[in-house]
Amino acid sequence: MSADNWSNCPNCLKKRKLKKQTHEGLLQQFYGKVSAEEYLEMSRNPKHPKFKNAVPVFEEDTYEEGSLREDYCQGVDDDGVYSVEYHCSCGNCGFQWSYKHTVDDVTSAVQVGERKTGRR
Ligand SMILES: [Zn+2]
Repeated sequence: MSADNWSNCPNCLKKRKLKKQTHEGLLQQFYGKVSAEEYLEMSRNPKHPKFKNAVPVFEEDTYEEGSLREDYCQGVDDDGVYSVEYHCSCGNCGFQWSYKHTVDDVTSAVQVGERKTGRR
């Protein structure tokens, strides 16, 4: 059975945003731009003041878009039971989430702001 939809995984995107820039990535920006002594000093001190204004460097991003498989269905059956089911899973990180809800006998449910009308 094929998926109803493929979208981006919120869990993968969250992890991507949270990735910190590495000391090595910061240090690479200064290679050949500062003296050898200062470069060595910076390589020993991840909290070197020069890193404060450095351009952020992120770790390699391997996330492939559209890794979240989504399957869903909804409807009312012959007994008037409305049901909605949703399931998603990510092939990249293993994240899964499901939702299921049913409403018994929708024919007896009265909508707010509506009057029940019947046949005369
Ligand atoms: Zn994911």
